Amino acid sequence: MPRLLAPVAFIGLLLSAAWHVGLLFHHDLLGPGGTVLFIGIFVVWFPTVFYLRRFDSTTGQGRRSWKVWLAGGPDWLYPLLQGIVVYAVINFGLGFLGVYSMEGPGFWRMASGHAMVFYGAAWGVAYAAMRREDEGIEWRCQNGHEVPPDAKFCAECGAPVIPPRFVPGAGA
Ligand SMILES: [Zn+2]
Repeated sequence: MPRLLAPVAFIGLLLSAAWHVGLLFHHDLLGPGGTVLFIGIFVVWFPTVFYLRRFDSTTGQGRRSWKVWLAGGPDWLYPLLQGIVVYAVINFGLGFLGVYSMEGPGFWRMASGHAMVFYGAAWGVAYAAMRREDEGIEWRCQNGHEVPPDAKFCAECGAPVIPPRFVPGAGA
């Protein structure tokens, strides 16, 4: 599933970024297509949440964080997504404070900032999952149970975690 989700969410991220930048300069590049793009958030978000729930349940108990979900991804992935979130919050804050009107085109300026967050997060999760698969990275305890990347001991049997298997070029 991440293999399908990653490119779709990435296209969504690029389109919402282009849409957003256009709106900043008072050009609505997508027109009615913007509504479709906004609805598309749900199309990528449901499988993403479904994937994360499954990922969490197969890696034992305990809370997960974005660092765990993005493990195996490139180092710049987490800061990039953080940057998008911070930007969207500032963008929303400016509208909230009346720096721009949140009605009419201004609504879409706000909404497209949020769209970038959701598409970005969905893409990041799927991209990291793909990289883990491609590079054969997996986290297991000595008895073979799957464990979260930040664990030192298995939540199921208490055995120590073995370092990730790293096989360059493994998987397809
Ligand atoms: Zn175990």
